[in-house]
Amino acid sequence: MLSAVHSHPHADTDSIIGVVRQNLGAVSHQAVYDVLRALTGAGLLRKIEPQGSVARYETRVGDNHHHVVCRSCGAIADVDCAIGHAPCMDASDDHGFVIDEAEVIYWGTCPECTTAAKSS
Ligand SMILES: [Zn+2]
Ligand SMILES: [Zn+2]
Repeated sequence: MLSAVHSHPHADTDSIIGVVRQNLGAVSHQAVYDVLRALTGAGLLRKIEPQGSVARYETRVGDNHHHVVCRSCGAIADVDCAIGHAPCMDASDDHGFVIDEAEVIYWGTCPECTTAAKSS
């Protein structure tokens, strides 16, 4: 399961199920969901859920990198954090909270969609 996610970073659950079935044969949706949840809980997988997108998983954990998401096709790419550790932004007012993470998602248009828009 980890290798399936590792070779398909930012894959959604359905894609992961497809890859796992290619390798292992019949595996139930529920089994894959359960393993993904367990691996995420154990810190071996990172779950990302851009607004309007299904949950996606990746094995790149612990480096506080961010994601850029294409508004048009939903493509996701990694963006290294400028600071390198969480939280990489200071809240203007922490309201007394101990803040340990700033979730950053960059939104835009991927190169393919930009090219497609120009040529149409
Ligand atoms: Zn796109
Ligand atoms: Zn990533």
